[in-house]
Amino acid sequence: MPFGYIKTNKNVRAYYRDGQWGELEETDSEFINLHMGATCLHYGQEAFEGLKAFRGNDGKIRIFRLEENAKRLNSSAREIMMAEVPENLFREAVIRAVELNSEFVPPRESEASLYIRPLLIGSGEEVGLKPAKEYLLVVFVTPVGPYFKDGFKPVNIIIDRDHDRAAPLGTGHVKVGGNYAASLGSTEKAHHEGYSSVLYLDAGGKKFIDECGPANFFAIKDKKYITPDSRSILPSITNDSLQKIATDLGLTVEKRKIPVEELAEFNEAGACGTAAIIAPIGKIFDKGNNKTYEYCNNGQPGPICTKLYERLRAIQYGEAEDRWGWNTIIN
Ligand SMILES: *Cc1c(COP(=O)(O)O)cnc(C)c1O
Repeated sequence: MPFGYIKTNKNVRAYYRDGQWGELEETDSEFINLHMGATCLHYGQEAFEGLKAFRGNDGKIRIFRLEENAKRLNSSAREIMMAEVPENLFREAVIRAVELNSEFVPPRESEASLYIRPLLIGSGEEVGLKPAKEYLLVVFVTPVGPYFKDGFKPVNIIIDRDHDRAAPLGTGHVKVGGNYAASLGSTEKAHHEGYSSVLYLDAGGKKFIDECGPANFFAIKDKKYITPDSRSILPSITNDSLQKIATDLGLTVEKRKIPVEELAEFNEAGACGTAAIIAPIGKIFDKGNNKTYEYCNNGQPGPICTKLYERLRAIQYGEAEDRWGWNTIIN
């Protein structure tokens, strides 16, 4: 099972028209009938979310932190002038999409999960530059295999000083397609050169660590969990969860600017997000300075990264206490 699209039974949709949201609709169509002048096509009025549902050994399905995704989708909506989605509509849409496709939530032993993709687009037509009057919310799901097919292994990443994914005061802090369009070129180039991801520096001065491709960066130094503070970083829900678990494990959390040179001082580093939870970083190549930073542990992930990863995964599958109330359980 790859990290790709597989057709499921149904997806759910709701339309915003005449200033209000309509009822949730179910469909088995994989297509959207869209006006060619829709603002999502021309002016990038598009935001999305990504979350997962897990089947535990008890057979129950757990959706992870969906309220946080609801809030984040609305922060994206506000930033690019789209209609906000009421949190209960978002919640209902996500739960319905999972329920309608519950047989696609993989069994526990597969280490796989159901990826949930909510999408909000400006569907109304505008030829001039202005926000649409109509919006469409779609929530579809697709089963995804374990991110690490050969087990939890370190990845290599590259610092790209020739591209930025977001401007210092731009849209980096919201989950909009435009940021992804801006990063496709440098990401493809990195893949070509054998790296799994690009580590971006602050677009203003190229002095500080910013975003790690479609994931947040964090590092471990002494007994500290350190993650960059920047307006152009997307607030990762996985990162937030790891910070809480880190505190639980006795680490101190620091959210602050991280100068590039500090990469030499870390014991461990990782990229975090819904897809992998943690992609432990083995090596960072800074092409501009021709420098390599290594977080070697005989080719294995570091002990703290491993602990953080295992604890979060155990919570998601219902095997460790959900003490922050992160899971929405569906029977
Ligand atoms: C979605 C995303 C993340 C990860 O966020 P999670 O909520 O942890 O999945 C990190 N960075 C970017 C740029 C993203 O779009």
